[in-house]
Amino acid sequence: MDKRRSSIPSVDKLLSSSLFKDLLKQFGRTQVTDTIRRILSEIRDDLNSGNTVPDVPPDMQEITDRVRAELTTRHIDTLKTVYNLTGTVLHTNLGRSILPQEAIEAVVAAAGGASNLEYDLATGERGDRDSHTEGLLREITGAEAATLVNNNAAAVLLVLNTLALNAEVPVSRGELVEIGGSFRIPDIMSRAGCTLVEIGTTNRTHARDYSNAITSRTGLLMKVHTSNYQVRGFTKSVADKEVAAIAHENNLPFVTDLGSGTLVDLQSWGLPYEPTVTETLDSGADLVTFSGDKLLGGPQAGIIVGRKDLIDQIKSNPLKRALRVDKMTIAAIHAVLKLYLDPDNLAKKLPSFRLLSRDLEDIIRVGNSVLPILQKIFTEQAEVSLVDCSSQIGSGSMPLDLLPSKAIAIKPTRRKGDGKQLTRICHLLRQLPVPVIGRIKEGAVMLDLRCLEDDAKFISQLHLLKIE
Ligand SMILES: *Cc1c(COP(=O)(O)O)cnc(C)c1O
Repeated sequence: MDKRRSSIPSVDKLLSSSLFKDLLKQFGRTQVTDTIRRILSEIRDDLNSGNTVPDVPPDMQEITDRVRAELTTRHIDTLKTVYNLTGTVLHTNLGRSILPQEAIEAVVAAAGGASNLEYDLATGERGDRDSHTEGLLREITGAEAATLVNNNAAAVLLVLNTLALNAEVPVSRGELVEIGGSFRIPDIMSRAGCTLVEIGTTNRTHARDYSNAITSRTGLLMKVHTSNYQVRGFTKSVADKEVAAIAHENNLPFVTDLGSGTLVDLQSWGLPYEPTVTETLDSGADLVTFSGDKLLGGPQAGIIVGRKDLIDQIKSNPLKRALRVDKMTIAAIHAVLKLYLDPDNLAKKLPSFRLLSRDLEDIIRVGNSVLPILQKIFTEQAEVSLVDCSSQIGSGSMPLDLLPSKAIAIKPTRRKGDGKQLTRICHLLRQLPVPVIGRIKEGAVMLDLRCLEDDAKFISQLHLLKIE
């Protein structure tokens, strides 16, 4: 035993050996030394417990390989770019909007140097980080004032906490929805320190439901855009204008959580109608909250626009400090908003719009380029074809309005154990250097091509698919 143990090389011997030269250069002395120590201690433990077969300690080369493997694994980036072929363009789990080049450049610039984030260059005094985005937000939405926070959930929390702390907020039962799995109005409301007063029913809420709910304890009236949920048939909700009138008769602010919040009329791009932020303000909302990374096409952020006196109150809430946005977000939002000044080129410059309004012809072109390659790869195992499908906007936007698209359908030829084969194919696609994320539908793996623009690059990694 002692003999075997003494044949294990020492840390110093390993470190000074030429085998470790590259590793030291790449990872630095501390990490390499720590990793060697850990691996040597594992080797000693194995020898002591008699686990090593054959019964000899690993040689220098083997130890080096183990150290390299461990350090390499440790340095793998877990956050990777992927191909979103799920058919959901603004996919929350896949990072929602893709930033336009202008915004990427602005982020890089803001990240790499000091900036006048909260510094007034004219006076040399302390500035306001909202000043960089407020002007454009006012110009584009017509609002009096605007402020940014971390995301729209934060925007709703902050508005409620500022204007209705320890007060009641009546909300229609038809609007108490859960969005994206973890955003629920009742939960946000209680954490904001408000008391939710449920009014109306799931399918029908009337103007009198709002009027009857108002007491001396009411803090504000609120409407929530039920973006990802619809009740059809015998339904009634109260128009923004009417709720606004009731709120204003009672000297209460009227707040609308728009969720997706588009700044332009989507119908101009052949997309389904969605109320714009400006329309919502025009119908009497005193404040409107919406996301930066949904239909707006920017980075994660929450945007609050509306009456200046209310925005001022919001900005002086200490929670605003906890929810404030970073300089990179501000840089990106500003760059994205500038694109809205030239709406004619929005579909060209803003990736979300480009993908949402993409020509079917262009999707078919990509399909025809990818199809033969995948057919060849799956010759034995699956039938591969180009089929019609429907994409969704995603992020809670208009789930019932689908965009006609094309998908590669990979249908396993062996009938038995279909389910397992489908999940296996999905797994293989996810193991590619740039993982490919599709979905399973009607016995096939569907790869919706709406969000695949660079087919040559996509094809270049497909030979790595290990189909057995
Ligand atoms: C998406 C959404 C939210 C949450 O927005 P995040 O930016 O994801 O925090 C809140 N309200 C509505 C109506 C939404 O659609």
